[in-house]
Amino acid sequence: MAFYVQKYGGTSVGSTERIKNVARRVAKFHAQGHQIVVVVSAMSGETNRLIALAKEVQTHPDPRELDMMISTGEQVSIALLSMALMELNVKAKSYTGAQVKILTDNSYTRARILDIDKNKISIDLNAGYVVVVAGFQGIDGTDSITTLGRGGSDTTGVALAAALRADECQIYTDVDGIYTTDPRVVPEAKRLRTITFEEMLEMASLGSKVLQLRSVEFAGKYKVKLRVLSSFEDEGEGTLITYEENGDMEQAVISGIAFSRDEAKITVLGVPDHPGIAYQILGPVADANIDVDMIIQNVGFDGLTDFSFTVHRGEFANTMNILREKIQPHIGARDVVGGDRIAKVSVVGVGMRSHAGIASKMFRVLAEEGINIQMIGTSEIKVSVVVDEKYMELAVRVLHKAFDLDQIL
Ligand code: ADP
Ligand code: ASP
Ligand code: MG
Repeated sequence: MAFYVQKYGGTSVGSTERIKNVARRVAKFHAQGHQIVVVVSAMSGETNRLIALAKEVQTHPDPRELDMMISTGEQVSIALLSMALMELNVKAKSYTGAQVKILTDNSYTRARILDIDKNKISIDLNAGYVVVVAGFQGIDGTDSITTLGRGGSDTTGVALAAALRADECQIYTDVDGIYTTDPRVVPEAKRLRTITFEEMLEMASLGSKVLQLRSVEFAGKYKVKLRVLSSFEDEGEGTLITYEENGDMEQAVISGIAFSRDEAKITVLGVPDHPGIAYQILGPVADANIDVDMIIQNVGFDGLTDFSFTVHRGEFANTMNILREKIQPHIGARDVVGGDRIAKVSVVGVGMRSHAGIASKMFRVLAEEGINIQMIGTSEIKVSVVVDEKYMELAVRVLHKAFDLDQIL
């Protein structure tokens, strides 16, 4: 007998038929004697629908009220799934995040989980119930409802698995595991049997939305056994996230390619090249709570230099305003220019540690396709480039082929 936390995403609970299908799967595990906590997302499209509704009423919806509203999508799913389980004669009980005291900070729309009260869930599990918990939501110290950021049900699943010490956290979704890249963009992408935690962390932070970044961080912190599987297929072992490099010499150097369209680039032109300038530019950006990703400062010429960086696309207008109004006049820069039609493409693999030449191969492959690289960033296990958005999919496809990712067994 094992104890599983199973998370089912939006597509997997996208209709009442699909919810019944999830109930059948859960009932099967339950009948085998396993203890099950199920975490569900809102039915697909529901969170977007609710956000759009809020924007019809308030241009920039108040974050607390927005969370109050968008948390309701998951509340519908948990009740429907519990009913579907009862129809199959399985004892089931649903809880919102607040009801099982998923305590978070008060950063509405992107709150962090601080603590979970395990009591109620444990009592129900021991009484033979399947416990169904709403993903994506919690409650802060003042009893206000919070949400955990888009894709946050993954984090609810992993956090519950960590708190309750489940044997495994199973993320059921509309693909049967983690692929070498998004199979919607590259049909030849291959499922990985395992991926190291570090690689998954990079993939998630570089744009692969198959797992929310925070869920991977959480899994690493508490060493949760985490697996991604299909909610539509009965067979298949999915992809297991591992915490050790397997030392396999045959292992591919590159494990995957991640990409993100959510990027924007800003360049401050003609900045006086003297100490403190990076701080003068990025300090006010950081003060406005805007995350900066890649940064490039050119070699100065005639005492002047150019300074470029990227931010999330949603922060582009705001960042441009800050630079033009607060920073440019202050530091005497010639101009501030930018664009939000860029994308980031990254190759990821722990094998890079022991293999040279990955970056140069990446640049050659892109050059052969005539794709201009606007920015470059590297870490020990990834190389990222910023390219024009319109070349993003082409870049992903040619790199996938060049690094033989379609040959992985
Ligand atoms: P859910 O609603 O179940 O949370 P998501 O849409 O959040 O599902 O995540 C699953 C999707 O992630 C897949 O349909 C796929 O298009 C996308 N995806 C992106 N990168 C990858 C990858 N490397 N491997 C598998 N799926 C990926
Ligand atoms: N329903 C939320 C979203 O669409 C959370 C999730 O699906 O994980 O982002
Ligand atoms: Mg998701």
